[in-house]
Amino acid sequence: MKTTNPLDQPKKFQNQLLKWFKANGKSYPWRETTDPWHILISEVMLQQTQVATVLNKNYFTNFTKQFPTPASIASASEQEILSAWEGLGYYRRVRNLQQAAIAICQLHNGTFPTDYQQILNLPGIGKYTAGAVSSFAYNLPQPIVDANVARIFSRIFDYQERIDTSTGQKQLWQWATDLLSHQQPRIYNSALMELGQQTCSNKSPNCHQCVIKTFCSTHSPEKLPIKKAPKKTKLIEEFAIFTIDPTKRILLQQEASTQRRAGMWKLPLREQHQTENLPLLSTSTYAITHHKVTLKIYQSPPQSLTTTIPQKNTKEQWFTTQQLKDTPMPSPFRKALNNILKDHF
Ligand code: SF4
Repeated sequence: MKTTNPLDQPKKFQNQLLKWFKANGKSYPWRETTDPWHILISEVMLQQTQVATVLNKNYFTNFTKQFPTPASIASASEQEILSAWEGLGYYRRVRNLQQAAIAICQLHNGTFPTDYQQILNLPGIGKYTAGAVSSFAYNLPQPIVDANVARIFSRIFDYQERIDTSTGQKQLWQWATDLLSHQQPRIYNSALMELGQQTCSNKSPNCHQCVIKTFCSTHSPEKLPIKKAPKKTKLIEEFAIFTIDPTKRILLQQEASTQRRAGMWKLPLREQHQTENLPLLSTSTYAITHHKVTLKIYQSPPQSLTTTIPQKNTKEQWFTTQQLKDTPMPSPFRKALNNILKDHF
């Protein structure tokens, strides 16, 4: 089939996408609002968390209810913001959101800026997020390149270079800029992202049903985009202790400020040799960037705490079961702890 270069007929390319989206676009809570703060929250949530997860557990709805404005999160405590983000992982994201909110309060009197450059200047906000907020909230003609858009462009232009280099990125942003609809940037950007999710998916692109197939020049979409080979997953083990005192308080350990989940509380980790001879209560696995972790939890009597030395730079504290609910805890630990309490106590 002869294909057309979309740069030769950008209007036709845009119109086909816009028409398709109006008939097929999904409704998400963040598409039903033009509040820039709420749109920013959704963009940050969706950076490393799948749409289904954000929707199923009402993360977006609950978070926007708790922090409806930049001012409402700017003064919140670390424990409050970490608890509100619990389950979403990559906790640096919620710290960045708070930093952006503080800047909005200090520099813009609490009102979300309406100018692309001012949005881009907010802490933790990059080119993609600034473009997404500008186009989705204000319908400003700003291009976006996320993983979906990158996949579509690399395929329609049959781009045989790596996209995760500065040259590759420059090329993708150039195509996004050249093909952007200036009349309907909000719908056009949504349409591109949606087509990437629904039709031009990573593993099984549905080219027969694709609304822009006449613009697409690749013959082997599943081989595109080209990226650096991902790092191999490392297998690691974590050894934690479950310790409950006679008043039913549980010992937790807080991750230090230099650690990935800084500020979060979890069952205290120990060296493997410190858990020898302790009864094993639970084994579970979880994934975290390039690592598959096997988490083993052992029961440790309170009196043995003097012989189990905490890891360096960590703080340990007793919590009642009531306090546990409002204490931010990484999901794998929360799940394992709930099971232990249910099965054994
Ligand atoms: S779904 Fe197929 S035809 Fe459509 S953009 Fe992707 S690779 Fe091209």
